Amino acid sequence: MKFVDLANFIIKSGNGGNGAVSFRRELYVANGGPNGGDGGKGGDVIFAVDEGKTSLLDLKLQKFYTAENGDHGDIKNMYGKGGDDILLYVPLGTTIYNSKTGDKIADFTSKEQRQVIAIGGKGGRGNAKFANSRNKAPTIYENGDPGTEIEIRAELKVLADVGFVGLPNAGKSTMLRAISNSKPVIADYPFTTLNPQLGVSRDNNGRTFVVADLPGLIEGASLGKGLGIQFLKHIERCKIICHVIDMTGNYGTEDVIKNYELIRKELSSYRIDLTTRPEIILANKIDEEEGQINLIYFKEKYKDKVIIETSGLKKQNIDKLLLTIGDTLEEYKDKTFDLEEKKELFKVYGFDDPDGDIKVNNLGNGKWSLSGETIYRVYQKTPTTTYDNLLLFNEKLKKLGVYDTLRERGAKKGDMIQLFDVEFEWMD
Ligand code: GDP
Ligand code: MG
Repeated sequence: MKFVDLANFIIKSGNGGNGAVSFRRELYVANGGPNGGDGGKGGDVIFAVDEGKTSLLDLKLQKFYTAENGDHGDIKNMYGKGGDDILLYVPLGTTIYNSKTGDKIADFTSKEQRQVIAIGGKGGRGNAKFANSRNKAPTIYENGDPGTEIEIRAELKVLADVGFVGLPNAGKSTMLRAISNSKPVIADYPFTTLNPQLGVSRDNNGRTFVVADLPGLIEGASLGKGLGIQFLKHIERCKIICHVIDMTGNYGTEDVIKNYELIRKELSSYRIDLTTRPEIILANKIDEEEGQINLIYFKEKYKDKVIIETSGLKKQNIDKLLLTIGDTLEEYKDKTFDLEEKKELFKVYGFDDPDGDIKVNNLGNGKWSLSGETIYRVYQKTPTTTYDNLLLFNEKLKKLGVYDTLRERGAKKGDMIQLFDVEFEWMD
């Protein structure tokens, strides 16, 4: 069975269109000026929150999400049309990462949030933009910047107000079904609940809240054993923890106090201190007679805690449970448990990020090669297909200090310099 709260896919923003080289040709005008238009901008990849979504399932349907490329510039100063953006909807609470670097890219924590993640490549300028008093008829133009491709990992931490925790078979799924519109899978064996199930509940005062049934925590889950570790992260943002305990002691150890402490230990050994959160204990399955004695012991031991005797199966004390949850939530209404994260500013990925480098490699026998991100960008941007562009390209390399480095490292006249798929003779 798959977990629906992780999605891996690739996004790519559109390439910018190339600039055009062209000249006015009018009747009776001998030498028309340059009129090559600019290329259009590539489309952005934008993520936005859709409150109606509760899983990342939709995003798993495709491996690639690509925005449209910008059109190339044209004659008569015609700009290329910008490429269409692509909008990807995610549920509230989704965090997206660059899965290659592990960097967090964005955290979708508010309803209206909408964020460009990969910005479309800029369009290249056409030759009309390069005319000046010295060069009235330039054949200079630029290629558009390529779009940016990012491997994305989307993670959904369920944004529930209330998280149900407890040993497998404590009755969490049954309770969730009893108090909400959700229909989780229920069965008489451990780990029936592999995905966190969400439900919306309403108390008798009309207060509504989102409840999540968090799959079985087991001993050692925080150490990576078993399935529990997959789900501990979902609890992080819950405002209330409802701890469900099977009072019959039929599952886990027979000692209900031990069972309770086991889960508490799990929670507190996780990196976020969940024990500071309001907790409601559900002394569950009280419809079973064998639970009565355990119940007495339990209540005696935890006099100061909020304990509600319930039966999810027989729907006993449901109204009281919901009102208690409603009251507690009202008390903690304005408290969020991850304020720091919300203030972070994240990066928009695009071609302009200047984290490149310059590499001058001596290949021996009078051969050199130039490589690295920064040089690639210059090379990509300035196609050496016209004489003017060739001069410009030279200037750019000079400015980057590439020629100085070549000189320092002993390049001699007549050496061949190779970069990507072109080769030059060193004429210094
Ligand atoms: P979960 O693993 O915590 O989600 O537990 P489930 O809701 O799947 O329930 C496990 C088993 O306990 C199932 O056989 C349920 O029918 C049973 N069960 C759940 N709640 C109650 C209850 O209130 N009373 C009784 N007698 N049995 C229950
Ligand atoms: Mg369950």
